[in-house]
Amino acid sequence: MGVLKLFSNDVAIDLGTANTLIWMKGKQIVLNEPSVVAFDRTTKHIIAIGKEAEAMVGKTHRDVKIIRPLRDGAIADFEITEGMLRAFIRKVSLSWQPAKRVVVCVPSGITEVEKRAVRDSCEHAGAKEVHLIAEPMAGAIGIGLNVHEATGNMIVDIGGGTTEIAVIALDKIVADESIKTAGDELTIDVIKYFRSVHNILIGDRTAEIIKCQVGSAVPLEEELEIEVKGRDLVSGIPKAIRVTSADVREALAESVNEIVEAVITLLEKTPPELAADIYDRGIMLSGGGALLKGLDERIRRQTSLPVHVADDPLTSVVRGTGKVLENLVEYSAVLIKSSRY
Ligand code: ADP
Ligand code: MG
Repeated sequence: MGVLKLFSNDVAIDLGTANTLIWMKGKQIVLNEPSVVAFDRTTKHIIAIGKEAEAMVGKTHRDVKIIRPLRDGAIADFEITEGMLRAFIRKVSLSWQPAKRVVVCVPSGITEVEKRAVRDSCEHAGAKEVHLIAEPMAGAIGIGLNVHEATGNMIVDIGGGTTEIAVIALDKIVADESIKTAGDELTIDVIKYFRSVHNILIGDRTAEIIKCQVGSAVPLEEELEIEVKGRDLVSGIPKAIRVTSADVREALAESVNEIVEAVITLLEKTPPELAADIYDRGIMLSGGGALLKGLDERIRRQTSLPVHVADDPLTSVVRGTGKVLENLVEYSAVLIKSSRY
């Protein structure tokens, strides 16, 4: 028994649309890389994953394709997703002992076929026991909310591909709402803004940096300014311009509003007893999108409820999934029921 425990290689995985994180029993977070895969277009052979694949963007020849297989919060390409998941698991596993027990966090809107694909991928990677958990549930546990009690908690997880909003009580998701307006969409808004207003073409990376550095959901006490370089769409020549955080806020306004509206919609659908709990406890934000400046303030203003951002929101989901892995008996009721076992 003791020996088995010592060599235990169980893992918890946050299979996010933007980032994949792996937690290993007893070791905490052992991997945190973008959910990106580079593969050969014809053979579908995987060339690189994670950071390595991301670094290849825009620098490869045309036989190599680089994709984010989970782009919209659901699995766009099974084969590639499976390859990526297996490669990540292998990367953190001791070669002589594959992960035995795996808990994977998946978007709450995932289909049965996709659930099966995730289970199969983990099994192909050597897992003997695979459990699935919904992303907002894992986020809530990672934040430290007591999901067992009969009190309603609202969590909003803003990832890359989806914003998932859920009300949790007694180990279950009581009401939820999932929209495709999330981090990626905000980045696209920035690209569109520069194209339509300034006639400048900027890349994904540049747009993401602008969003993270000067993007906001409410006016800032001190507005920021940033220099942006791109290609002038008229002359075709590289050009630099300066924009303010007020300009970027304007560009993000519509999508930010969609996120806030989705929160309000779910509040309206929440059973009254649980709504009363949320009135007292407020709303928790997790996921990378929770880092958008002033998003908490914006939701606070529009709902008149207390709003809190999780500590380290990019890791709350994997920390919650890890906690479930390490306390499987306590958390068995929060797992997604399998149709197969
Ligand atoms: P997923 O769970 O879908 O993999 P994450 O929770 O890892 O997503 O969040 C990734 C998203 O968070 C990306 O769209 C990224 O641009 C966004 N993000 C990260 N940091 C910030 C920031 N400081 N401000 C705004 N958005 C951010
Ligand atoms: Mg996530």
